[in-house]
Amino acid sequence: MTSQVYDTCTKCQYEFTGLPERGKCPECGNYYDKSTGKGVGSEYRSKAQKFDRFMVRLRTIFLASIAVIILLIGMIISMNSDAAGIPIFVSGLIAFVFILAAILSYLNEKP
Ligand SMILES: [Zn+2]
Repeated sequence: MTSQVYDTCTKCQYEFTGLPERGKCPECGNYYDKSTGKGVGSEYRSKAQKFDRFMVRLRTIFLASIAVIILLIGMIISMNSDAAGIPIFVSGLIAFVFILAAILSYLNEKP
């Protein structure tokens, strides 16, 4: 990602670009320290983190949906098949792999 991150005042969102490492916000006088992150926030950064979490959640939902779809396809095929057990068994196996992937994805959602 090439997104630019700005340090901003946590009180008034004033941009600290070009200001010393620590001091007082020129806008509201709030004390800040860039090295410790005290009084320093970043709208942009938190938005990016939210987006990342959303993408990871989407991956989990996507994997789980694929598992359900494969199971449904297996059931539909078995309805039109003479050997009803085989498509369900095969789709169940494939769906199981996707369910495992979804569970792993879910467990990895938290950093
Ligand atoms: Zn401020």
